[in-house]
Amino acid sequence: MSAAALLAAVGNTPLVEIPFAAEANAGVRLFAKLESVNPGGSIKDRPVARMLLEARANGHLAGQRRLLDSSSGNAGISYAMFGAALGIPVTLVVPGNASAERLARIRAHGAELVLTDPIEGYDHALHTAHRLAEEQPERYWLCDQYANPANWQAHYEGTGEEILKQLAERGLGTPDALIVGVGTGGTLTGIGRRLRRDNPELLIVAAIPELFPGIEGLKPLGHPGDIVPALLDQNLIDHREPVTLDQAATMCHRLAKLGLYVGPSSGAFVEVALRVAAAGERHLLVTVLSDTGERYVSTGLWH
Ligand code: PMP
Repeated sequence: MSAAALLAAVGNTPLVEIPFAAEANAGVRLFAKLESVNPGGSIKDRPVARMLLEARANGHLAGQRRLLDSSSGNAGISYAMFGAALGIPVTLVVPGNASAERLARIRAHGAELVLTDPIEGYDHALHTAHRLAEEQPERYWLCDQYANPANWQAHYEGTGEEILKQLAERGLGTPDALIVGVGTGGTLTGIGRRLRRDNPELLIVAAIPELFPGIEGLKPLGHPGDIVPALLDQNLIDHREPVTLDQAATMCHRLAKLGLYVGPSSGAFVEVALRVAAAGERHLLVTVLSDTGERYVSTGLWH
């Protein structure tokens, strides 16, 4: 297997127009990066590929030292897939309630899984990864997607740059609103910084899912005890919009009728984008469809 070919398949995803925004408010256009076409099925291929290659180039993984990180699932799949292709042993700390599809795929690529108690929440997986790395520094190198600058840089140079190029190809200018969520904060920080460079007036809205999972991979920021990711540039966020799982799921079903089969975080982003469209002050909106809907069959999303 050529790891180079797999890595080359990451990014340069289609920019699709979602007509609901124009239906809600004539003159508003909404575009989304279709990230499910990445080889790992999600947007996390971008930062993970970059973090892995940098870690290897910097010698962190010499002597069969294992790459270690925590993940709610999508990053875990990307780590496991690229680890398999590059011959890098991978250990992932994942909450035990990650969807069955995710756990099955991580195992299929041969990564070692450490499952944490779901009742303790996602932050517990993060703490466990830090503890393992401290206890066994010879065995593990902690990649730490919540603090690793290669995470947001992948979105600055990749996702953000591609959005500007693809809009220009359609004869459109710089977006005036970005709507995404916050897991590690890599997507928001990287795309947000890149788009603000060209349009300092860019509105950045963070979609925040209702307290308690349902929407895997997104953190309900701002609740007492939540860990704020080290790489998240909170100053970028103009506004936070709560989304219920029901609202996200309803939007997933609407998107599926357009041929877009995506997961609940994507549904949440589009739901919030429509609120921005309805407010009427912004006219060129962008978001991301971060992963495939196939990853959520076992969660009941499509019932
Ligand atoms: N949506 C999904 C489906 C994800 O898996 C993640 C990351 N775990 C995010 C959104 C958030 O992305 P980021 O980590 O870049 O903030």
